[in-house]
Amino acid sequence: ERIISSEVNESEVSFEQSLRPQSLRQYIGQDQVRENLEIFIKAAKQRRETLDHVLLYGPPGLGKTTLAMIIANEMGVNIRTTSGPAIERPGDLAAILTALEPGDVLFIDEIHRLPRSIEEVLYPAMEDFCLDIVIGKGPSARSIRLDLPPFTLVGATTRAGSLSAPLRDRFGVLSRLEYYKEEHLTSIVLRTAELFETEIDHQSAAEIARRARGTPRIANRLLRRVRDFAQVKGDGEIHLSLAKEALELLQVDQRGLDHIDHKLLKGIIEKFRGGPVGLDTIAASIGEESETIEDVYEPYLLQIGFLQRTPRGRMVTAAVYHHFGMEVPAP
Ligand code: ADP
Repeated sequence: ERIISSEVNESEVSFEQSLRPQSLRQYIGQDQVRENLEIFIKAAKQRRETLDHVLLYGPPGLGKTTLAMIIANEMGVNIRTTSGPAIERPGDLAAILTALEPGDVLFIDEIHRLPRSIEEVLYPAMEDFCLDIVIGKGPSARSIRLDLPPFTLVGATTRAGSLSAPLRDRFGVLSRLEYYKEEHLTSIVLRTAELFETEIDHQSAAEIARRARGTPRIANRLLRRVRDFAQVKGDGEIHLSLAKEALELLQVDQRGLDHIDHKLLKGIIEKFRGGPVGLDTIAASIGEESETIEDVYEPYLLQIGFLQRTPRGRMVTAAVYHHFGMEVPAP
């Protein structure tokens, strides 16, 4: 388990749940997404209509599930939660849809992993709030149409590109979540510390934020570990030297990189003179799957400008040499 993994791990599900902001006002950062949603929600409420279907996309841990819950809260309706891989047959989806109350939010996480046959059930449901189901088999089979209550589908995906075009086109609102700025992550750390009833100064919160890879999930996880450290090694309060010591022990460096990032970047420098080198070659040389590198390790390294994608493969940038205190090679 990487401490800086952006995926949620089983043991922190309820911890995360307890930290979720409940309203748009409490939701920190993502200003544009928040402001847009605020307007759409207000407008829908004034017209007494359901909110348009919303697609949230962006890397894991940035607050998509949280936003889905906030949307339901702000609209004053219930939310039903499921995920792409959990819906295996059209009947599974039909059961969920027919159980909705008027206005409900249906949240489908990892919506890009819905099988195509199920997507097709979703199209008329999203467009006309109805369901076409086939009863019987062979020559006696017939299709009947069921009316559904109006509802809002909120879909979340880490890969907007792998969503089929017909599905994507049926969302009225498309919102892309970005990695958080340091100041916003600092506010998130301060907010979480308050919920924990843990004393922390601004500098320490900023130190944790800087190492959290732009991701609230990671910021909260790091804070939790630093808090443990403060409790055992100190008097429970978090101040800068203690925070730094704890983060050092967790082996998360100043830019939020761990030993796997180091292995990846140093591998490119040492074995391939900094690149360009193909993804598959890198993968083989450090014993990882190409897909894991592409989906999990790479997005943040690209975001902070440590890695570049070129037509001939991946390259490390001068910033990486600086980061490791190495001399930048002459071109
Ligand atoms: P995703 O669904 O994108 O993987 P989540 O919605 O589960 O991410 O968020 C992960 C954690 O980060 C949650 O515990 C949530 O409380 C926290 N979080 C996410 N976004 C924010 C935010 N804007 N403000 C405060 N906390 C946030």
